[in-house]
Amino acid sequence: MLTEEDKKALKLQGEHFFIEAECFFVRAFERPTYLFNQRGRAAGTAHLQRNLIKINPILFINNKEEFFQQVIPHEVAHLITFQLYGNVRPHGKEWQSVMVAVFQRPALTTHQLDINDVIGKQFHYRCACTTHTLTIRRHNKVLKGNHYKCKLCQSLLTFEAEN
Ligand SMILES: [Zn+2]
Ligand SMILES: [Zn+2]
Repeated sequence: MLTEEDKKALKLQGEHFFIEAECFFVRAFERPTYLFNQRGRAAGTAHLQRNLIKINPILFINNKEEFFQQVIPHEVAHLITFQLYGNVRPHGKEWQSVMVAVFQRPALTTHQLDINDVIGKQFHYRCACTTHTLTIRRHNKVLKGNHYKCKLCQSLLTFEAEN
């Protein structure tokens, strides 16, 4: 799903932070493998024992700048922290100090991402009093003949739109 250029740019940004860490700590760090198959709502994950960074390709497409500025340093900092200190708390003071003192980034544990593409389709239904959002699973049940009632007004939900 990602172009070779996107993958190269992400790895290069990872390398940039490894070099910063090497200059700061005056020692070498083992480079990770990068995989581009992270699923779900996580932007990326760092796998400490396997020395691996997984990137979410769907989220990357709509959030490129956030990945370069925040997600990559966040995950690299996990691997640096592990190589320096072993098993410490994931977002504890060691990780925070790598983010702030070494990478000069805010030590944020959540990312500001547009996640619309990974939420999945939502189906909007109407009753007599308001609108309801159904998942594709419930929507498919309606298509098979199931009915859902609004708990407030007791009227049947009717399909209006999908997004
Ligand atoms: Zn983290
Ligand atoms: Zn209602």
